[in-house]
Amino acid sequence: MKLKKSMYERKCTECKTIIKKGNKYGQKSILLGSKKDGQKETYDGLTITVHQLRVPMDFCNQCCIKQGWVKEEVN
Ligand SMILES: [Zn+2]
Repeated sequence: MKLKKSMYERKCTECKTIIKKGNKYGQKSILLGSKKDGQKETYDGLTITVHQLRVPMDFCNQCCIKQGWVKEEVN
């Protein structure tokens, strides 16, 4: 994972810390709705198989380090 510079204020999903504009943060996709995986659904005349939904979540620098997603940076 690579940390990005936030273009606006956001909140860390893990520790609820406010990530200020200009601060570094990481984004990770979290799986949602695992129960309905494999269901068939019609969308716009197209039959698709529903897969688990991946939602991007924001994490602060500290949480990314704690999770081992990034190496600790010297500021
Ligand atoms: Zn955090």
